[in-house]
Amino acid sequence: MRSTSIFAASAAVHLGAVAGVVTRPPVWPWALGAVVANHAILTAAGLWPRSQLLGPNWVRLPAASTARDEVALTIDDGPDPAVTPRVLALLERHAAQATFFCIGERVERYAELAREIVSRGHTIENHSQRHRHNFSLLGPAGMRAEIARAQRSILEVTGSQPVFFRAPAGLRNPFLDPVLNRLQLRLASWTRRGFDTVNRNADAVFQRLATPLRSGDILLLHDGHAAQDARGTPVILAVLPRLLDLLHARQLTPVTLRAALA
Ligand SMILES: [Zn+2]
Repeated sequence: MRSTSIFAASAAVHLGAVAGVVTRPPVWPWALGAVVANHAILTAAGLWPRSQLLGPNWVRLPAASTARDEVALTIDDGPDPAVTPRVLALLERHAAQATFFCIGERVERYAELAREIVSRGHTIENHSQRHRHNFSLLGPAGMRAEIARAQRSILEVTGSQPVFFRAPAGLRNPFLDPVLNRLQLRLASWTRRGFDTVNRNADAVFQRLATPLRSGDILLLHDGHAAQDARGTPVILAVLPRLLDLLHARQLTPVTLRAALA
């Protein structure tokens, strides 16, 4: 469902409530209840990262890519000077391509590293300029500023314009979809995430991502904000080699989201 029809349905509920109260004042508790329920539905949809209710949202790869036995590894919140180079080395060892949802201001700060990601055949997509924790509470102008600024940062540093956007923590509101449309960005969430910014148990993170593992899956890990295991190793560095081995054993090919568009 396009978010425009959500807006239309939402407006109809509000108008209906007003009309009801004007023509038959005793219905006001019911009218108020309908409006409250409508807002609750929109809020719940925004707090559920894999929901399609607020607009199109990739939670799996398209059918053609799935038929080619492809899987997407998506790596968020970098670049990070301590972790990203080691992630790039692991990916290279397995001849695997990944999608990095980078934070715009980190791309500016670690420009050389951002260019290294792209020069190795991976893609950098838009994860907002500052990764604000209140992103889902912003209005249309605030959302547009965060996303457009990251588009410019990433294009200027890497020479490549993002075509996908992922919201910080996956949280949204109904204003996001029209902003993405204007900037010609597709929203991408995930099939499964490892919660590897909070879970320090690499084995548990691996199991979450790999059970079950099917073609068309979009998996989420973090090179930025990565939790560390008991030995101080960022969790992604312990999980990624096992995941890449498993993909190889299952004859699944890790591709970028852009490659999956073909
Ligand atoms: Zn993030």
